[in-house]
Amino acid sequence: MTSESRRLLLCSDMDGTVIPYAAPEDADARPRLRALCRHPAVALAYVTGRDAELVREAIAQFDLPTPAYAVTDVGACIWRVDAAGDWTRWDEWQTEIAQDWRGQTQEQARPLLADWAGLTLQAEERQQPYKLSYYWDMDQCAPDDVLTEVQTRLQPLGWNTELTLSIDAHQRVGLLDVLPRRATKRHAVEFLQAQLNYTPDQVVFAGDSGNDLSVMESHVHSVLVANTPPEVKAEGRRLAADTGQADTLYIATGGVGYGNGNYAAGVLEGVAHFCPRWADDLRQTTASA
Ligand SMILES: [Mg+2]
Repeated sequence: MTSESRRLLLCSDMDGTVIPYAAPEDADARPRLRALCRHPAVALAYVTGRDAELVREAIAQFDLPTPAYAVTDVGACIWRVDAAGDWTRWDEWQTEIAQDWRGQTQEQARPLLADWAGLTLQAEERQQPYKLSYYWDMDQCAPDDVLTEVQTRLQPLGWNTELTLSIDAHQRVGLLDVLPRRATKRHAVEFLQAQLNYTPDQVVFAGDSGNDLSVMESHVHSVLVANTPPEVKAEGRRLAADTGQADTLYIATGGVGYGNGNYAAGVLEGVAHFCPRWADDLRQTTASA
C-alpha cells in the first residue's frame, strides 16, 4: 500500500549527477538508487540535456533506474515512460513552451547567429523544434559576452528566450542552449509537479552543473551532489540566498550515513535531508541491490 505521505517525485539530472565522472563513486550508490526507485511510492524523472535516445543509452550503459518521466534536451521535451518501456511525448508541454516563440521554431533563429565566430552549431540530432544548441569558444569569449551577443542578435524575433551557458566538464567544452523562456529545467519540474499533483515537499531535484541552477533559485527542494564543481556550488548558494530560497538548497557532503555524497549517493543524501520519512530506508547500512 502506498502511503500518500511517502509519495516522492525524484527529479534528477544525469551526467555528473547519477552518471559518474572522475570523482570516486561508492560501489553501492547506484544499486541503492535503483532500490529507492523500485519503491511503488517513488516516481523518477530524469531532467537532462540529453535527448531521448541518449537517455536510453545511458540507462543501459550505467545500469540506471528506469524513469517514469524524462525531461530531455534541457527542457525542450517531456516524455512519459510506461511500464512496457514505451516513450510518449507530452504534447501539452510543447504547446506550453511554443508560446514563447510566437509559433516559430529554431529554424528562424539560425541565420541570425550563423556568422558569429564564437559559436559552432552542435549536430543536427542535438537540435529540436524548440531548442537550438551551439558550442561556445571558452578560450575566446567570456560568458557575459556570449549572452550579450546572442541576445542582441535574436532581438528582432521578439521571442521570450532563455539562454543557458554551461560547461561540459567531462569533455571540457562550453555549451549554449537557446530555448523558449518556459523551457527551463525549473519550469519542467514545476510542470511535472502540477500535472502529477505532487505537493512541494514530495518533490526533490538533484543536479551538478550550470544548467541545473535555474531550479536552485525556485521553491523546489534541490540538491547539488558533492562532486559538483566549487564554482557551481558557490553560484547555487548565491542564487538561493538572493531569492530567499536558501533553505530549499542542500549541498551533499557525504559522511552523514548515506555514502560519500558523490553522484547517486549525493542524490540519496539529499532525499534523506528533505524527506526525513525516507531517511531510515536510505541509510547505507540498510541498502540492498
Ligand atoms: Mg550534469
